[in-house]
Amino acid sequence: MRLTSICSLSCLPLLFFAPSCIGGDSASNFSRQAFDADRAWKDLEFLVEMGPRRIDTPQSAKTRAFIRKELEPLGWVFEELPFPVTPPEGAQRKGELTGVNLIARREGTEAGELWLCSHYDTFDLPRFVGANDAGSSTAMLMEMARQLAGQGPRTGMTLVLCWFDGEEPFHPLRWDDKNNSTFGSRWLSEKMQKEGSLKNIRALILLDMVADRQLGVSIESMSSGWIRSIFEKTASALGHKQLFVDRREIKDDHLPFLRKGVPSADLIDFRFGPGNSWWHTREDTLDKCSAESLRILGETVLTALPLLEEAAAARR
Ligand SMILES: [Zn+2]
Repeated sequence: MRLTSICSLSCLPLLFFAPSCIGGDSASNFSRQAFDADRAWKDLEFLVEMGPRRIDTPQSAKTRAFIRKELEPLGWVFEELPFPVTPPEGAQRKGELTGVNLIARREGTEAGELWLCSHYDTFDLPRFVGANDAGSSTAMLMEMARQLAGQGPRTGMTLVLCWFDGEEPFHPLRWDDKNNSTFGSRWLSEKMQKEGSLKNIRALILLDMVADRQLGVSIESMSSGWIRSIFEKTASALGHKQLFVDRREIKDDHLPFLRKGVPSADLIDFRFGPGNSWWHTREDTLDKCSAESLRILGETVLTALPLLEEAAAARR
């Protein structure tokens, strides 16, 4: 992902809500949802121990197998969507590669889909283990899947979990959202648009870099305003008033969908270490992360989900 501009929350007219008035009419839908951070942390440890999980490597396939082994028994229906990737001229990796987006669905009784997303590939640097980027959001999505699982149709919209491949740029070239990054999300959004299924997505939430010990999440500023607002109100109502620290314009996997009209938001902590100096370096290790950070954001997203669903349904 790439940062393009910043606005501190102190300059924004942010309103704080008591739990009883969160979401206005949807107060009855508000209740704190559990998130088992210890279990998510174990997933994160497993991912990090696996080492680099770069696109089109055996570790990438092992990551998908691990996610499926954990979640398929809970009723999630998986699909692996391969797509072609050609590293740009000047990249260290050469030739035709194959990325794979991993998707899990739980069908709902109502029209529409809610998407929760992360990328699972790691930065293209030898010995980079990506505890925070992208281990943390990969693990957070896995634990959300456990909390949202169930046999048979879900009452409400269909839930879709998506682990994108190929978010990261090819080394040593710069991040570029047209030619050298977001390969999986660009490919999938184009495919869905052609097939006519993109309009089924009523809201798409992207998580990225979510386990920093000093968690301070940006709600990406190009993201859909109504989704941003629900997250801010939910965090405040849960007592996580320090969770969202600013709005920044950050290019990430949500943008190919947002640009095609899908309501989308990116929740990302893009201040990892002093001056973001641990980002995309071998300093991105487990000791810089915490289970408590996973819990705070995981609980916030799960608690916001019924409000998002209600708001998304009302927009049609
Ligand atoms: Zn990254």
